[in-house]
Amino acid sequence: MCKMKVIVIGSGKGGVGKSTISVSLALLFKMLGWKVGLIDADIYGPSLRGMLTPEIFPKEENGFLIPACSKGIQVVSAAYFSKFEKGAPVRAPLINGIIEQFVYGIKWDERDLLLIDLPPGTGDIHLSLLQKLSVDGAIGVTMPQKISVLDVEKSLYLFQSMNVSLLGIIENMSYYQDPLTGERHKIFGEGGGRALAEKFQTKLLGKVPIDPLLLESLDAGEGAKFSLSRDELLKIAVEISNQLCDHESGKKIVEVKKIDHQTFAVEWSKKRSVHKFSKVQESCPCVLCAEKDRPSDPNVSAMSIELVGNYAVKFEFTSGCSRGIYTWQNFQEF
Ligand code: ADP
Repeated sequence: MCKMKVIVIGSGKGGVGKSTISVSLALLFKMLGWKVGLIDADIYGPSLRGMLTPEIFPKEENGFLIPACSKGIQVVSAAYFSKFEKGAPVRAPLINGIIEQFVYGIKWDERDLLLIDLPPGTGDIHLSLLQKLSVDGAIGVTMPQKISVLDVEKSLYLFQSMNVSLLGIIENMSYYQDPLTGERHKIFGEGGGRALAEKFQTKLLGKVPIDPLLLESLDAGEGAKFSLSRDELLKIAVEISNQLCDHESGKKIVEVKKIDHQTFAVEWSKKRSVHKFSKVQESCPCVLCAEKDRPSDPNVSAMSIELVGNYAVKFEFTSGCSRGIYTWQNFQEF
């Protein structure tokens, strides 16, 4: 098995089956031999607990959270905390604290795959997670109809802008196949998944049919049981497994190294470019610098350099500014 991978699953909107797909894939990946962790990042409306009844409940140990466990999948969800179980109004600072806990405060058993079920929308939670984690790939889930596609597009643009490579699109509830006649009924229209895959130049990983057993088993908290959807979901899990293990899933591994007081290098694969801290700080995008119209200081240096997700770098400048986030686009060659 390859090193621990992180995949985010997003759809931009609720009700398209993102959590259903997340739980299904978690169980199928486990069947394929992966040790799987699953995070329900929908803090406003967590649903995974209801779908996967835990055999082992989460607990706190030395300031760390030990995840719940259901059917061999380790699960983290705000729904395990009574305050959130029934849906609570949560202010942004609290959300950020919870996300920090999810990223830094979980004591996982040895895992080789972490699936993150993102909430609807493209807000704070998405940004925080994609900034704090090094994500190996994203999956977009859509339904076939146009209105669903439009919302999913927003998530895909967000992934692109944060340099998270798209593993592909899953079209969910593509059709219902009559078990007696074999006839396929396209209840929610058709073509959305293919159109999205073409627009974002990625794969249509599969078209998952409406599966009453899947719905019933998840409603009963029994995890995912498959009948009509089994073959397609398994095909998708195998395809993603192969993508994850065969290559680095397109992720750009970028390193930023200080050379001397005034200069640093940005390195990616066999490319390397050298830059001056002063030049970079001149274009600091943070509000404070923009307001002050800070004059250029040729001697400015960086006290620390920190990568932000897959897509950017943050400097703590000796001038006191440490707020600007510089995406790779700032360094031309990238
Ligand atoms: P989301 O996470 O996008 O809000 P859910 O996963 O909660 O959506 O799914 C919404 C509803 O649709 C749930 O009742 C779920 O069981 C059902 N559902 C999702 N995908 C399928 C499917 N392929 N077949 C049958 N029911 C499905």
